[in-house]
Amino acid sequence: MSTRPGITIIGSGFAGIGMAIKLKEAGYHDFVILEKAPDLGGTWRDNTYPGCACDVPSHMYSFSFELNPGWSRMFSPQSEIWDYMRGCVAKYGLAPHFRFGKEVTALEYDDAAHEWRVATGDGEAFTTNAVVSGIGALHVPSLPQIPGRERFRGPAFHSAEWDHSVDLAGKRVAVIGTGASAVQFVPRLAEQAARLTVFQRTPPWIQPKPDFELSSRARRVLSLPGAARALRNSIYWVLEARALGFTIDPRLMKLQEVVARRHLERQVADPELRAKLTPDYTIGCKRILLSNDYYPALTRDGVELVTDAVTEIRENSIVDATGRETEVDAIVYGTGFKVTDALNEQRIIGRNGLKIQEAWQNGIEAYYGITTAGFPNLFFLLGPNTGLGHNSVVFMIESQVRYVIDCLRLLSKSRARALDVRPEAQRAYNDRLQERLNALIWSEGGCRSWYLDEHGVNRTTWPGFTFEYWARTRKVQPGAYELIH
Ligand code: NAP
Repeated sequence: MSTRPGITIIGSGFAGIGMAIKLKEAGYHDFVILEKAPDLGGTWRDNTYPGCACDVPSHMYSFSFELNPGWSRMFSPQSEIWDYMRGCVAKYGLAPHFRFGKEVTALEYDDAAHEWRVATGDGEAFTTNAVVSGIGALHVPSLPQIPGRERFRGPAFHSAEWDHSVDLAGKRVAVIGTGASAVQFVPRLAEQAARLTVFQRTPPWIQPKPDFELSSRARRVLSLPGAARALRNSIYWVLEARALGFTIDPRLMKLQEVVARRHLERQVADPELRAKLTPDYTIGCKRILLSNDYYPALTRDGVELVTDAVTEIRENSIVDATGRETEVDAIVYGTGFKVTDALNEQRIIGRNGLKIQEAWQNGIEAYYGITTAGFPNLFFLLGPNTGLGHNSVVFMIESQVRYVIDCLRLLSKSRARALDVRPEAQRAYNDRLQERLNALIWSEGGCRSWYLDEHGVNRTTWPGFTFEYWARTRKVQPGAYELIH
């Protein structure tokens, strides 16, 4: 395959695959998809922990142009989502475009040739006109800086790197972290482990998960013309309605909080445990989690929730802030991902030798999360401030993919070699964005989350309804770009 593809896509998760499908449909066939792993799938390849499933209904967490009436549940498990992605790759004939085992280590823009040089870890180099980064925000595991962590003698792994060779049945297991991943695997571990100790730093708000199996009859009905589309549309609007509290005023989250409180009260009778599980920040400030089996798991015999900070890890134990030492055989870190710094650590060099770290010295930002000044023809999917607290990010990806294609069309129409967003357009867009975000739940809800960078600035979420993003990214505003001939 050519090392001079017209377009280079990095990553083969929902973003990379969605981009590739739409490129082909638009008549662009000269592209490669560079994937660091030996297989496709991104998040849904990497996260194989027990209980891994989507917490957005599958009929919405999928491509709008590739509806799947066959989802087995409202919230399908990881393996089924991964199968769906493989199905898309097969149906749209993407296989010849993949290059596996190609970890992109550097992107450098050649000012004279108006091209990007893409270096991969195995020493290969590609030259390309445009780069689409579909690397996602949640793929670099974050391990806690706890003294002694490396001294632990037993098996210890992160939820995104689950070691399936380790049998945790009958073992004394510790889980550190109680986020979106942990609430899914803790119930499974609680069934197997001899003793399970869950170390919680901050309790999450948890609501009931409206999950159920879709019977074969229901699936037959969903195969009827228009049925899966109608279901998707109704899910979209139900989820979008949840955005009111996120996008307008945090006080509108009250009802959400009532739902979560009742869920806790119904599932946890012990007042002491309930108190430990009751958050002290406004719901929505961190991701709202959905689970029907997390709280019951914590009430099982042999399961303990510890809310004292972990201060040290020793060869066979974990010490908390009270000085108590808990002996454990294995540790599972459900401690999330390095989010805002993941993009920042990339070796990306744009026009006139501009490093991405210099461009982003005051924080990561882009124009609609897609383009960033000084880096012509470099497009981010799920880039800065395009994450969501209330709906499916696949919807955001599709908007971004359409925008990228519109940019490519603008290039062809204007016979330009490259386009570069004007710094003033990016500045004005981000100033307005931050002004909106400042008043919203992620900053005002009284919590500290990965949505905020080290300066407390929200670099991850979109502050509005998703249809606003869709409408605003439907057409490229040529005036916002410098066209380079
Ligand atoms: P997460 O939600 O960021 O949770 C990380 C957990 O680890 C939090 O409870 C955090 O506590 C704790 N933690 C982090 N560092 C710690 C430390 N040094 N000491 C003690 N505790 C520590 O991570 P995640 O559960 O892996 O999920 C990440 C994101 O992935 C989610 O927000 C979601 O967007 C996505 N996700 C989605 C699904 C899905 O179904 N679609 C499933 C799983 C994950 P604090 O709260 O105090 O920071």
